[in-house]
Amino acid sequence: KLHNIVQEAKGNIRVFCRCRPLSKDEASSGQKCVVEFDGVSDGDIVIANPGTTKKSFKFDRVFTPKDDQAVVYADASPLVTSVLDGYNVCIFAYGQTGTGKTFTMEGTETNRGVNYRTLEELFKIADERKETVTYNLSVSVLEVYNEQIRDLLSTSPSSKKLEIKQDVEGSNHVPGIVEAKVENIKEVWDVLRAGSNARAVGSNNVNEHSSRSHCMLCIMVRAKNLMNGECTSSKLWLVDLAGSERLAKTDAQGERLKEAQNINRSLSALGDVISALATKSSHIPYRNSKLTHLLQDSLGGDSKALMFVQISPSGNDVSETLSSLNFASRVR
Ligand code: ADP
Ligand code: MG
Repeated sequence: KLHNIVQEAKGNIRVFCRCRPLSKDEASSGQKCVVEFDGVSDGDIVIANPGTTKKSFKFDRVFTPKDDQAVVYADASPLVTSVLDGYNVCIFAYGQTGTGKTFTMEGTETNRGVNYRTLEELFKIADERKETVTYNLSVSVLEVYNEQIRDLLSTSPSSKKLEIKQDVEGSNHVPGIVEAKVENIKEVWDVLRAGSNARAVGSNNVNEHSSRSHCMLCIMVRAKNLMNGECTSSKLWLVDLAGSERLAKTDAQGERLKEAQNINRSLSALGDVISALATKSSHIPYRNSKLTHLLQDSLGGDSKALMFVQISPSGNDVSETLSSLNFASRVR
């Protein structure tokens, strides 16, 4: 079903909206769900902003708090697996901190998210095709914090700045970055864990740090067609973006202010790139942030992108929710 949607789509960017459940604390403190799904067709969402008129938004797909990880992954699956057919693919989760970006992408050990399910499926398909194609998969895990790239798989803490270079074929890479070769899902799990452990190093509050940095997983796929000897390579980016919440201007000073400015800069650069692609603008401003520069060869052209807009159901978050939905609407 989604395959058809992807094929028929005008652009190559899909937007899925996912609303998390009301948390126990929110429910017990009497907060109400202001997001409505009932009575609207698939792909619509309505925000009842108390005191104002209701506002509705349309997406390629809307996931309600009842939709579990498997349901969400099922709709993303045709897109992610197209990396095995040579497409560059990019999936990212956008939204305010606490809305489920990490839950959607990473998930938990008992409730795995898109990242793990993707790799599991890539290995499965690769195995099914092994008579005709040999696939080699490798994984890099990066973090972009304050416009600096950090290699989360590097064991040698190098002081050398990681930069983005473009090769002759026009594909971007970061010289010196670790590409961990993975042969099965168990190895993947170890790599992902190593990456998330490294993320915690050097920050005294992991949750706070992760809400201010972009966590980026890159899966490189090298394929050799055994029938004609043709070799191709493609990549899949899986990105857990920094929180999109606007820090109250008065709270931010010094390091915090710089962080906030860098987050705003990279998220608005991402919005600018996507909306330039959607309007088929002749200039796509990839170079305005490390995030968009890294994703350059996987956003636009014949690559495929999927954005999850994560939202909170709570009436307390309604202004951030509207801001995320407005951001997401720019790209359609
Ligand atoms: P973010 O990464 O956007 O800051 P998290 O993924 O950490 O948000 O989610 C915040 C909390 O909400 C976590 O405890 C997470 O397990 C929970 N959560 C988020 N989305 C869902 C969901 N769809 N179903 C159940 N729990 C969820
Ligand atoms: Mg998170």
